[in-house]
Amino acid sequence: MKIGIVGTGMVGSAAGYAMALMGVGTEIVLVDASHALALAQAQDISHATPFASTIGVHAGEYADLDGAAVVIIAAGVSQKPGEDRLALLERNVAVFRSVISGVMKAAPDAILLIATNPLDVMTFAAQRISGLPPERVIGSGTILDTARFRSLLGDHLGIAPSSVHAYVLGEHGDSEVAVWSSAMAGSVPIVSFAQQIGRPLDEATRVRIAEEVRRAAYTIIEGKGATWYGIGAGLACIVRAIIDDERAVLSVCQVSDEIEGVRDIALSLPRIVGREGIIATLMPDLDQAERAALKHSAGVISGFSSKLSF
Ligand code: ADP
Repeated sequence: MKIGIVGTGMVGSAAGYAMALMGVGTEIVLVDASHALALAQAQDISHATPFASTIGVHAGEYADLDGAAVVIIAAGVSQKPGEDRLALLERNVAVFRSVISGVMKAAPDAILLIATNPLDVMTFAAQRISGLPPERVIGSGTILDTARFRSLLGDHLGIAPSSVHAYVLGEHGDSEVAVWSSAMAGSVPIVSFAQQIGRPLDEATRVRIAEEVRRAAYTIIEGKGATWYGIGAGLACIVRAIIDDERAVLSVCQVSDEIEGVRDIALSLPRIVGREGIIATLMPDLDQAERAALKHSAGVISGFSSKLSF
C-alpha cells in the first residue's frame, strides 16, 4: 500500500524511517518544496531498508501520490524572530492550502494524517481546507504525550507500559489533560493498583508525572533543537492502524462539532482508528477537575482556530 509524506524535514523523514523499519506499507513517496531534500531523505531511508524490510522509498511530485492510502502532512515553516503565534499560524495555513490542493488532486481518496504544529489548529485547518469528512483528517494529537504518560507510569509502577491504559487528552501542548480518574493498570484502577503494590500515586507524584509529560518536548528541544524520533514512530503507528484496519484505540485529533460546550473544535480524545479513518470517538469518564481542564484546553485551541477564516 502506498503512503505519501509531504514535508520531509525532521518529522516527515523520521516518520518515513520509522515506517521503513517497522514495515508499514509497501511504498513510501516523499514530497517536499525542496525536491533535493526529498530526494536525499528518500535515498538515505532506502539505504536502511535492506536491514529491515522490502519497502520501496522514493522522492516524487504530487502526481506520484496517486492511489496513496494515507498521506502524512508534515510540511510547515518555522517561527521568524519576533513573529507571534498567530502570524506563524497564518503562514502555515498558507502552506497547507498549497499542499492540500496538490494532495487532493492526486489522491482524493487518501486519509490525511497531520503532523504540523500547532497540531490541533493545523488539523482543523486541514479539514476545512480539504472539505473531507472529519473522520478522514486525523491529527497525531496526543499520541506521543499518551505514550510518554504510559511509560512514566510504567516506570513508577514497575510494569510494562503496554499494561498501563491511560490517556493524555485535549491539546497537544501546554493545556493537555492527563486523565487519572479512568486510568487502569491491567484491569485495576491505577491508584488502587499503585496502593496495592506499595508504590502509591499520591498527589505530588501525579503532579510530577503530568508535568514531566508536559515538559518532555521542551527538555528535548533544549538539548537538540527539535523532536522527531518519538513522533515519527507515533505517526508510523497511526498509519499501521489505518492500513491494517487495526481498530486500535489511540488518542488522536479530529474536528468535532462540539466538545464541552466549545464548538467546531479539533482536539484529542480516545478514538478507534481503522481503514476508514476514525471509526468512533470515546469520551472517557472524567472527574470534575478533568472535565474543566478539557474545556479549558478546548478553549485554548479554539482561541486560535476561530480566528482563521475558511
Ligand atoms: P519539522 O521539524 O517540523 O519536521 P522542518 O522545518 O524540518 O520541520 O520541515 C518542514 C518541511 O516542510 C521542510 O522540509 C520544508 O521544505 C517543507 N515545506 C515547507 N513549505 C512547504 C510547501 N509549501 N510544500 C511542501 N513542503 C513544504
